Amino acid sequence: MTAATTPLPDRRLVVSIHDVSPAFEDSIDRLADMIGDILGGPRFAMLVVPDHWGAAPLDRAPAFARRLRGWAGAGVEMFLHGWFHRDTSDHRGAGAAIKARYMTAGEGEFLGLSADEAEFRMRRGRDVVEQAIGEPVAGFVAPAWLYGAGAMTALKACDFALAEDHFRVWRPATGAVVARGPVVTWASRSPARTASSLAVAAAARALPDWLPTLRVAVHPGDVTKESLMTSIDRTIRSLSGRRTVARYADLPGVEGGRGGSPIGSGLVPEGVS
Ligand SMILES: [Zn+2]
Repeated sequence: MTAATTPLPDRRLVVSIHDVSPAFEDSIDRLADMIGDILGGPRFAMLVVPDHWGAAPLDRAPAFARRLRGWAGAGVEMFLHGWFHRDTSDHRGAGAAIKARYMTAGEGEFLGLSADEAEFRMRRGRDVVEQAIGEPVAGFVAPAWLYGAGAMTALKACDFALAEDHFRVWRPATGAVVARGPVVTWASRSPARTASSLAVAAAARALPDWLPTLRVAVHPGDVTKESLMTSIDRTIRSLSGRRTVARYADLPGVEGGRGGSPIGSGLVPEGVS
């Protein structure tokens, strides 16, 4: 941690590891070790995918499930993150289809689901993750931060404590927004996307700390490029030196009131899910 400054108590940093699945165990280990070293412990969240692409069922990976339980016991907040992660539905409307195809490389699983199907996957996924970790999940985050109308209805029905998209964290029960502002994240799928994500991260390090809560999210694919790992290391180091590292559960009440654009209407950076 940078010792030159003292973290501001009213400025928070929340860090999460996305796409936690037995399919990516080595990459997740590397990210968890690196971030844990910087933050002085496992002070981050994990977004768990119950069956990534239908090929990595958590309920048939007992060794990985035990590791998740260990992380949860050490204080890692565990979120349910979709079911398959991949988008397998037909989209109604060109806008939704374009968003799903071009913004996320087809990872927007919850963009086109009916409320019934979304609720079915949420309940089943929550059971699988809670069985693994031995405690309640902290909330639900849709793959690629993309929520269709069905997903929004199902979120309320399932009574998740928290949800987030690219622009805010909110309580589904009341709609109260507990954090605003974009997520700093990295894209590994193409050189152009990688370059732009490096620039955004550099800007996040350099800009003044206007936002009360800043979220940082990393993905298993980030470990495939050393430039991304260097940027992630620098960014988390810099931000955690200036901000108080926080848990999602500790985010204060409503931040900045209600209103603004409807939840889920924003575009996600290309190639990030
Ligand atoms: Zn994801």
